[in-house]
Amino acid sequence: MKRFLPLLLTFFTLSALGQNQPPTMSNIQVGIAGTTITLTYDLAGAGGGPITVAFRAGEKGSIKLAYNTSNAAGDIGPGLSAGAGKQITWDFSAYPAAGFRLQLVASDGQAVDIQALVDQVDSARLKADLSFIEGVRHRNGNPVHLQETRDFIQNHFVEHHLETHLQEFDYSGYAAANIIGRQIGTESEDSVFILDGHFDTVNGAPGADDNGSAVAGFMEALRILAPYGFKKSIKYIGFDLEEAGPGLVGSKRYVDEMLVPEETTAGVLNFEMIGYYTEVPNTQVMPAGFNLLFPDVYQDLIADEFRGNFITDVSYNNSEPLADAFLGAAAQYVPGLKVVKIHTTTLLPDLLRSDHAWFWYSAIPALMITDGAEFRNPYYHSPQDKSEFLDFTFMRQVVQATVATLAGQAGIQHATTWWTDTDFFTPVKEVLPCEVSLSPNPSGDFIRISWGACANSELEYELIGLQGQTVTGKKVVNPGTPEAVLKVRDLPPGVYFLRVNSAERQWVRKVAVSH
Ligand SMILES: [Zn+2]
Repeated sequence: MKRFLPLLLTFFTLSALGQNQPPTMSNIQVGIAGTTITLTYDLAGAGGGPITVAFRAGEKGSIKLAYNTSNAAGDIGPGLSAGAGKQITWDFSAYPAAGFRLQLVASDGQAVDIQALVDQVDSARLKADLSFIEGVRHRNGNPVHLQETRDFIQNHFVEHHLETHLQEFDYSGYAAANIIGRQIGTESEDSVFILDGHFDTVNGAPGADDNGSAVAGFMEALRILAPYGFKKSIKYIGFDLEEAGPGLVGSKRYVDEMLVPEETTAGVLNFEMIGYYTEVPNTQVMPAGFNLLFPDVYQDLIADEFRGNFITDVSYNNSEPLADAFLGAAAQYVPGLKVVKIHTTTLLPDLLRSDHAWFWYSAIPALMITDGAEFRNPYYHSPQDKSEFLDFTFMRQVVQATVATLAGQAGIQHATTWWTDTDFFTPVKEVLPCEVSLSPNPSGDFIRISWGACANSELEYELIGLQGQTVTGKKVVNPGTPEAVLKVRDLPPGVYFLRVNSAERQWVRKVAVSH
């Protein structure tokens, strides 16, 4: 009998891996009658075991789900089995009927296999995403690709069901925007971890490492983490205008406007170039004086003949526990990745050159995760900053360590979350699977715009110029209108953007006019 035991264990381990998906809810409908909200949903669980469904509510748009829902009844609480047509009712008469934020969490209480999660990070996806992102992304040098990249990030956030919005602001006539996507925590929604990177480039550089690698990296981390629940919230942020004078413009804007008293930023992981790697000796240089400030790190570099073969984990003051968490996660789950931790108690200029800096100034724990920029990558800020010079195994390992760090810090759960903001009298709509398409494009006469399934919701569209200036003004499309015709005959030839908004999301498409 004894010899069978390992076989049985293997069998169970494999089936656990195969069934590592948390329970899911689908077909969720919200109805409101009198002072009762009724939620119906279908429940599925890969493991087949009992499922717990939690229901929370709060004021519409609030990040705290503070209402007491202990009077809710129906298919709620522990011991539920999978099946269709589950129902929860909640009498909300104790609260103002001004609109609610509602949240459901389905959990089966299993432990999440972090190693299995980490192993899903895919270098082929990183490469494919980076091949789209690569190219000058500068407000004057190539505003078209800058806008395409913003659109790419935003759509990725929406597709993974993040609460997504743009923090828009003007920068010398350029309509700048940070792209913010929020995965809502299941227990402490008001405590948030941030994973960010800037998406702009200097003029003339295709910015594969700086900082396309970061964008591909946080998009891949999101893909892996999105199917799970987290006790705390996670925000994914693409910062605009990191490279614009005086530098770090987008992240400063975020810290100035978005750090609100209701929300605690528990930690920030800022990707600043994560793709350049080499095993060649004497490829890593260090800023002047580094050997005096960090003698232990410097000795390690000497011992390894200054190979540029590590990721740097930079922390300041109260950021050190987060830096140690990253170091520990890498050691446990990504042993092939070499991490060099640099902890500073002094604000050294060379360590302040990316978007983490504004968080440090506000005493928020933040890390710069970096390959070392021009201290390693000879193509820094040049037309040669291309993906052909990057190492996608290294990039994958950095994303893997980040996934493991966030899973631990934000409290991953074998659970899925659904939420909505609902008005009192308006039934909730599911986000519609629709795409905006244009034909012909380019055109000299007219362009037909169609919106697929989105024709069922109210839409708004406008044509804007390269610098974001209005060309047509906003036009509203009533639900049920399958397409619109945009006359471009009288416009000067050139490139424009068509921006389409529904209640849930935005699309931007490039429009070429030629006569
Ligand atoms: Zn740069």
